[in-house]
Amino acid sequence: MTFTYRDTREFIPVDADKGLDRLTGKLVQADTDAPAGYTRLPKCKFCKNYMEEAANIGVCGASAMDPKFMAYGDMIAVTCESYAD
Ligand code: SF4
Repeated sequence: MTFTYRDTREFIPVDADKGLDRLTGKLVQADTDAPAGYTRLPKCKFCKNYMEEAANIGVCGASAMDPKFMAYGDMIAVTCESYAD
């Protein structure tokens, strides 16, 4: 399975559109496909608890708050203890 660079752990963002490929050191566009085998970065949009309500915006189903808190699909979730693959 392939992912865009911005959705991989091998991508180091430089600005909103581009960044560095950590393995090759080359400047790459964030929304182009990364090579096969690159690792998916945990983000809300990949989490089973994410409930999308609009394009890339939703709520976190694991939230105990009422109402549940807003979550962005592109929010990086490496520190979220409730992230579910
Ligand atoms: S559990 Fe964490 S990773 Fe999953 S949607 Fe909620 S905040 Fe995002």
